[in-house]
Amino acid sequence: SQAPVKVTVTGAAGQIGYALLFRIASGQMLGPDTPVALSMLEIPQGLKAAEGTAMELQDCAFPLLDSIQITDDATQAFDGTSVALLVGARPRGPGMERGDLLSANGGIFKPQGQALNAGAADDVRVLVVGNPANTNALIASSFAPDIPTTRFSAMTRLDHFRAVGQVAEKLGVPVSDVHKITIWGNHSATQYPDLFHAEVGGRSVADQVEQEWLEGTFIPTVAKRGAAIIDARGASSAASAANAAIMHVNTWVHGTPEGDWTSAAVPSDGSYGVPEGIFSSFPVTASGGEWSIVQGLEIDDFSRGRIDASVKELTEERDAVKALGLL
Ligand code: NDP
Repeated sequence: SQAPVKVTVTGAAGQIGYALLFRIASGQMLGPDTPVALSMLEIPQGLKAAEGTAMELQDCAFPLLDSIQITDDATQAFDGTSVALLVGARPRGPGMERGDLLSANGGIFKPQGQALNAGAADDVRVLVVGNPANTNALIASSFAPDIPTTRFSAMTRLDHFRAVGQVAEKLGVPVSDVHKITIWGNHSATQYPDLFHAEVGGRSVADQVEQEWLEGTFIPTVAKRGAAIIDARGASSAASAANAAIMHVNTWVHGTPEGDWTSAAVPSDGSYGVPEGIFSSFPVTASGGEWSIVQGLEIDDFSRGRIDASVKELTEERDAVKALGLL
C-alpha cells in the first residue's frame, strides 16, 4: 500500500483547524487511497488545545491516519512535508494599521518559508489560508528560494464557492450547473467575482441576470459574506473555509474537470496585465499537480476596472512588505 503523505496544518488548534483536520484524516483531501501523517503546528499557547484535538482524532480511528505530530517548532512541522496548509495567522486587531498587520504576519510567514525551504519534501505544495493570504503567500515563497514559486498558492476557493451558491440560488439551478466562475485579485473586499465568463446552460450568466443585481447585490454579497456570517453566527466562517481548503488541495492534486475551471491565487506570470510575481486570484485549471492560468478571456471595461482596483491593493501590500524588508 501507499506510503503515508505528510500533511502539515498551522494554527491547528484554531477553529478552521478544527474543521479541517478530521476531513484530512478521513481522506477527503488526498483521496481514499492515501494514508496521512498529520503534523499540527501551533504557538506554545495553542499546544494544549491541539493535544485535545489529537485525542479526538485518535478516537475517530480513521484507517488512513498513520500518525499525529504536535509541535511549536516550524522546522519539525515542515520536515518532509508534502502538503502544508498555512492557516494560523495574526488577525487584524482593533485599531491595528495595515503596516502593523503585515509586519506581524511577516514574523510568522518568513520563518515558515525558511523552514519549508530547509526541510519540505521535493513535491511540497503550500496553500496559504491565513490572512492577508495573498501577501502571506508572497512572503513565505520569497523565503523559500529552493521551492518553485508555483508550489505556493493562496485560497480564494471559498469566495468562488460563495459566488457559485449565489448564482445557483438566483437562477434556481443546482450548483452543479454553474460553471466557469472566476474570482480575480485579492482575497479581500476588493476581490472581483466575475459573471461575464460564468456559464449556466451553456450561456453567459451575465446575460441571464440584471446588471443591477450583478453590481448592486451579487458582488457585495460575495465580498462581504464573511462579515455577514460573523454577524449571524457570532463567530467567523470556519467549516466553509475548511471545506474550501480541502477542495483547493484536492483540485490541485487531482485536477479540474474537462471544460471547467476554478479560482485560486497563484503567482502572476503577467497574464491579464497583473504584475508578475504577485499572488493574485485568476481563473485556473489544474493538471498533473500544477495550476495553469486560463488564457485568452476577453476582459471588458467593467471587469478591467474591478480587476485593476484589486490588483492595485495587492501591489500596495507588496510594496509595504518590501519596505518592511520582508521580500
Ligand atoms: P481561524 O481558524 O478562524 O482563522 C485562521 C486564519 O484563517 C485567519 O487568518 C483568518 O483570517 C483566515 N481565514 C481565511 N479565510 C477565512 C474565512 N473565510 N473565514 C474565516 N477565516 C478565514 O482563527 P482562530 O483564531 O480560531 O485560530 C488561529 C490559530 O492559529 C490559533 O490557534 C493560534 O494559536 C494559531 N496560530 C498559529 C501560528 C503558528 O502555527 N505559527 C501563528 C499564529 C497563530 P481573518 O482573521 O482575516 O478572518
